[in-house]
Amino acid sequence: MPDVYFFGVWDKNRLGHYLHGEHGLLYDREREAAERMLTKIWPAQDGTLCPGTGNAQVQGAAKIHQKGGWTAIGFWDRSGDKRGNSNAVFFMKGIGDSALPSFTSVMQAAKARYPQLFERFDFEIELAETCNGEDCVACNPKP
Ligand SMILES: [Zn+2]
Repeated sequence: MPDVYFFGVWDKNRLGHYLHGEHGLLYDREREAAERMLTKIWPAQDGTLCPGTGNAQVQGAAKIHQKGGWTAIGFWDRSGDKRGNSNAVFFMKGIGDSALPSFTSVMQAAKARYPQLFERFDFEIELAETCNGEDCVACNPKP
């Protein structure tokens, strides 16, 4: 099981936002298990984990969320799909009872696991917003 998942566009030849492990698209049981686990925490992931949905969607502007033993970092990314609302998310699980991974540690791990994506990103990923839990629509979806 990957310790860092990537949600987004894998390459320009396969548009659409999906969940990936370090070798690309996850298949069958692995994908179902990962999706089930992550959608339990964040039911909506496509764009909702990024900073200020509906704003200028500055590429690389990132928002961090920590919930259910995981850290999610969502950011605007049009390097794979140029259309509006294109985005990406890295999900990283905390280990044991230690603190959840910080922005810096998720980025370090993501760069090591997904070097080809970081070659494609023609922008820096910078922390723009920190989820405050309570009024975050991604972390607190309306029933
Ligand atoms: Zn949140």
